[in-house]
Amino acid sequence: MNGKFHSIAIDGPAGAGKSTMARRVAKELGYQYVDTGAIYRTVGYHMWMMGIGPRDADGIRRLIDDVNVQIEYAHDGVQHMILNGHDVTDEIRTAQMAIYASGVSAQPVVREFLLDMQRELARQHNVVMDGRDIGTVVLPDADVKIFLTASDTVRARRRFLELQEKGEKTSFEQVLSDLRQRDKQDSTRAIAPLRCAHDAVTLDTSEQTVEESVAAMLAIIREKLG
Ligand code: C5P
Repeated sequence: MNGKFHSIAIDGPAGAGKSTMARRVAKELGYQYVDTGAIYRTVGYHMWMMGIGPRDADGIRRLIDDVNVQIEYAHDGVQHMILNGHDVTDEIRTAQMAIYASGVSAQPVVREFLLDMQRELARQHNVVMDGRDIGTVVLPDADVKIFLTASDTVRARRRFLELQEKGEKTSFEQVLSDLRQRDKQDSTRAIAPLRCAHDAVTLDTSEQTVEESVAAMLAIIREKLG
């Protein structure tokens, strides 16, 4: 257990359904949902606005101290990302910002910068936190760790439908290729790579509906929490 609050760590690759499921599980348990990918996307967005490339280590190091990231929760529980006083919640949800997030998140200076912020949230609330390294690095003492996965074609299909719904022009092949690229980058980076914690329960959602996955996650959590 992590202090006096409970924490549930949900990790897994892009498109495994982490945010949808984690949000639902948090609501069901009355916990705070924390989407850590949104935090990396916000840093990526700042770099993009400043004309810095997603792999420009020197540029990122130079500008990281100018980044002020805050999380605010709306009445309906929606996590708003505030970058230097501006709400960028919608702007960070593009395919390009996913690539930027993946690039900046491989930089040690960025991970270090965001580590305390994430841990502090878990010190102050019961949380369901999703990301890539929550069970391995951010909250190694989380009460429950779940590694959500699904085949890459299923994940790409989900992402493609999501982007289409938002009116982004893209093809399934492009989404699949971006996703494979991001999987590779996230799991081979030197620092905090995407991997399943040794004490996590793996859940493959390829053949499951959202309802089924949420029910399976709640069963795992309730069993662990007792
Ligand atoms: O989850 P989402 O797709 O929004 O994450 C965007 C990117 O942020 C990921 O591809 C990953 O590179 C990075 N990320 C990370 N560690 C986390 C959460 C996200 O490196 N805990």
